Amino acid sequence: MCANVPMVKAIRRFTVRTVLPSNIAPLGKLAGNLRWSWHLPTARLFHDIDPEAWQASGNDPVQFLGSVTREQLEQLAANELLVTRIQELGEDLERYLSEPRWYQSLGDDAPRSIAYFSPEYGISAVLPQYSGGLGILAGDHLKAASDLGVPLVGVGLLYQAGYFKQSLSRDAWQQETYPVLDPDGLPLTLLRDDDGSAATVVLPLPNGRELRAHIWRADVGRVPLLLLDSNVAGNDEAARNVTDRLYGGGGDQRLQQELLLGMGGVKALRIFQRLTDTPAPEVFHTNEGHAGFLGIERIRELMDPSNENPMSWEEALTAGRASTVFTTHTPVPAGIDRFERAQIQHFFDAGLAPSVPTERVLELGAENYDGGDSAKFNMAVMGLRLAQRANGVAQLHGEVSREMFSGLWPGFDAREVPISSVTNGVHVPTWVDPLIADFAQENFGAESVLDPQWARVYDVEDADIWRLRRIMRSNLIDDVRSRLRASWKKRGAADAELAWTDNVLDPDVLTIGFARRVPTYKRLTLMLRDADRLKALLLHPTNPIQLVIAGKSHPADEQGKRMIQDLVRFTDDPEVRHRIVFLPNYDIAMARTLFPGCDVWLNNPLRPLEACGTSGMKSAINGGLNLSVLDGWWDEMYDGDNGWAIPTANNGATADERDDIEAAALYDLIEEQVAPRFYGTIRAAAGAAGPSEPSTDGVPHQWVAMIKHTMAKLGPAVSAERMLQDYVRELYQPACRSGRLTRQDNYGAARATASWRSRIKDGWSAVQVEHVDSLGVSEDPQIGDSLTVNAYLSLGSLSPDDVRVEVAYGRASENDDLSEITVADLDVAEDLGRGRFLFSGKILIDHSGSFGYTVRILPRHESLASNAELGLVVNA
Ligand SMILES: *Cc1c(COP(=O)(O)O)cnc(C)c1O
Repeated sequence: MCANVPMVKAIRRFTVRTVLPSNIAPLGKLAGNLRWSWHLPTARLFHDIDPEAWQASGNDPVQFLGSVTREQLEQLAANELLVTRIQELGEDLERYLSEPRWYQSLGDDAPRSIAYFSPEYGISAVLPQYSGGLGILAGDHLKAASDLGVPLVGVGLLYQAGYFKQSLSRDAWQQETYPVLDPDGLPLTLLRDDDGSAATVVLPLPNGRELRAHIWRADVGRVPLLLLDSNVAGNDEAARNVTDRLYGGGGDQRLQQELLLGMGGVKALRIFQRLTDTPAPEVFHTNEGHAGFLGIERIRELMDPSNENPMSWEEALTAGRASTVFTTHTPVPAGIDRFERAQIQHFFDAGLAPSVPTERVLELGAENYDGGDSAKFNMAVMGLRLAQRANGVAQLHGEVSREMFSGLWPGFDAREVPISSVTNGVHVPTWVDPLIADFAQENFGAESVLDPQWARVYDVEDADIWRLRRIMRSNLIDDVRSRLRASWKKRGAADAELAWTDNVLDPDVLTIGFARRVPTYKRLTLMLRDADRLKALLLHPTNPIQLVIAGKSHPADEQGKRMIQDLVRFTDDPEVRHRIVFLPNYDIAMARTLFPGCDVWLNNPLRPLEACGTSGMKSAINGGLNLSVLDGWWDEMYDGDNGWAIPTANNGATADERDDIEAAALYDLIEEQVAPRFYGTIRAAAGAAGPSEPSTDGVPHQWVAMIKHTMAKLGPAVSAERMLQDYVRELYQPACRSGRLTRQDNYGAARATASWRSRIKDGWSAVQVEHVDSLGVSEDPQIGDSLTVNAYLSLGSLSPDDVRVEVAYGRASENDDLSEITVADLDVAEDLGRGRFLFSGKILIDHSGSFGYTVRILPRHESLASNAELGLVVNA
């Protein structure tokens, strides 16, 4: 009947904000601040107000409040019990937002404000602005900063469609949809200028075009997050679409996203500072290369000719670098963001940074090292050159990064490449199941999940833990069944065909989870390597396993989609489909049930290509055990009792052989170790400490012992609070000190440092070690003898104060490689005239066997954060 009525489209859409009666007014702030997403009492309040409406809103307080009618609000305002709870939680939030926390105990030797830039943020399912681990990590970083009182301001982009939603076709091919978000329905407020108009950032583009963006503010507890949105009036169609999707498009669109994030982001921060009267950030943290242009914008600010005393490029670079921290997240060269050099030139010639010579910008991203491509502009390389301090995200990843980027510091050993590491962590209150949170509160005497006394888990009865694990497993299974049914309906199945989904998975079977993005190196389908063996494990008569799998493939990655298809086809087989499922559309909401429900978390990347990996950490804090290749975080945290290590075959095996060997090892581990322990049928080794098995009371005590050990030991180590404290102490505070140093005397110090750097670079080619000798060793040297090392140096135009002369000594191998090295400084002993100096010092022979030493010259200055910083060294 309505077939001929045209669809009526609104020309303008408003979201009417609810007006709340005054005694329940705090609800507005409780819904608007994302703290509810990790503050259980607040989330429970929304649930208790109207459980059905809460569920219908998708657990989204903004939608929820929008759906409540006036009558319901009036009823609520008359409900004394709820009103009291609302008021108490409102007060609790105010207290949380203002009281001194850990960071406030650090005093003045800590930055007054820190800007954190990231292309994606995974904070909550209601703000889907993330694709995977990088975004989740950024979200956890902000939340932990909030809990610790770290004065962080986040900067990012607001994507109209976020990342895609995944579903499956009948033949198991990944389908992508991009539902458009309405910012007015999100927990965001528009940043407005004093006159009420939307605050606007403007970047000039080639051909006289402009890219304009508005700034949305999200409140993540105490941390404001600024998100730039180019879908605004005044932009042409192409400019409006710059922020249409996360990592959408390629080429120019991607570049414009990154220019907006980096350069526009700094401009947005400046507007925010002005409007809120908050201090300027003293440290800028670039989370991965995408945001690297922030460094150019800061240089532009310092070189601006309208400044009273504009800086030169070198001076501005010196000042900007000192207070910048860069975190690299990929050990895969193909994962690094690169543009055509010509493309960068095209955009900067349009006047993005008028006072900055484009040639200088191009040099920052140049791959002018062995194996580099001179036509490319490399965002990670620029990130490293614009930041005085850089880090990888796990110890092993730090090592791999030092190797990978060693070309930027020629003459130095990879060990000395100035890239440190801070191992990622996960925000415990977000990722711990509410049941575990309650359990911790009851059993560990914890005031809140913020401060769980994890070690007290040892005092809890095994049977209590085992019962809790079963409940969480059952909750997951309920969720799996309804998701699987929904997925099959999307794939075209009729209800009558789907009765079997009601019996998928068994709450008493060992449940193994595997969920993550699907790039090749994560090897989603390794488990299918020997399909018959997998089948046998799933259908084992006494010790069966069941698998829950999820993951999105990048839309352009055909190989990833094929892996998903192979896997789903396997799971479709009626013989095994009750024991293995693939759930489409992996996201935060799914993850929060998945981690707690799995007994074992599986991770089998190609070592060492997983930078850190955080999903195993989320499993651990819920009492899951890890079964993983020794890569990323697991390489440093596996201790033999907190899970299992899948051995790696990296001794020259081909990729195929490697998959065969590692898959076989995985099957063996599950069959011989994991499953028997779960079912309590393993026999303890003779004389082993701990409870003996087989279990007689239905509780697998050895398994529970591993759970307790995991929670007690890994809990604190994998928390984002530990991570954030590491960042503050190891990176933010040092960067703040360096930054303050450069600002002394109205940036006079930066100017002096820059001029020193230029002098050193210009004079370095004349620096030489002419001759080294040693005195004091007898024919027959012995341990405890000391030795005087004399180095005759020619320093050209440099002075002895400009250099550090090091002697490195230790055990010498036959080809003169040193090991067990000790390093000592030599001091200037004599001015030999015409730029020549004798440096000298004593070293102690501290071991027997062959002994050797060598001498090198390095630049020396109070502004340097590491020996390799300038990439200058003269070795004897
Ligand atoms: C934790 C998480 C990730 C990242 O997992 P990795 O182990 O780092 O690959 C990705 N997506 C979601 C939804 C997550 O919760």
